[in-house]
Amino acid sequence: MTANLIVVSGPSGVGKSTVVAEVKAHAGDVWVSISMTTRAQRHGETHGVEYFFVSRDEFESTVAAGEMLEWAEFAGNLYGTPAQPVSDRLEAGVDVVLEIELQGARQVKARFPQAKLVFLKPPSWDVLVQRLTGRGTESAEVIEKRLEVAKIELAAEAEFDVAVTNHEVKQTAQTLLDFARSHS
Ligand code: 5GP
Repeated sequence: MTANLIVVSGPSGVGKSTVVAEVKAHAGDVWVSISMTTRAQRHGETHGVEYFFVSRDEFESTVAAGEMLEWAEFAGNLYGTPAQPVSDRLEAGVDVVLEIELQGARQVKARFPQAKLVFLKPPSWDVLVQRLTGRGTESAEVIEKRLEVAKIELAAEAEFDVAVTNHEVKQTAQTLLDFARSHS
């Protein structure tokens, strides 16, 4: 494989989506995978842009058909990466970024040992709590669930090829790209 398969993971609220959007803006030749999810669409999200929003039935039949590169349940919802668009890009020599949670990152590493796993860390636990609470997109119950999962995710840092503390979006995106492309 000449193109890079880059996995960006880290706890909910760490700023993965913002960092990945910056990577995309900065490196136009990178393709960011669009996941499928059963989670409800948030205000401002568009089907086919942030995610493909599907029913549990549709998600499960995609898994059953063997069409998911990886998938996981996260805080009560299913999330997965459709395999075909990723392999098409990699075969065409295009670098691919997956922005996914820990269980999915592990599946990708098992399937593609050459994948580059980047772990995004918050500057501190308090900053993570503030970011997750401050974005106002989730209920208190959902935030609680996500913080519980975040503790487990933060303990898995050593499984990743590199850990980057997300102090500032542009700097984090640059570090991530430098890492992904310097080890080709
Ligand atoms: P959110 O609901 O905040 O958009 O995403 C919740 C979590 O699911 C985040 O950690 C996000 O990175 C992760 N996620 C998004 N898409 C996928 C996917 O396709 N597979 C897996 N395993 N996790 C995903």
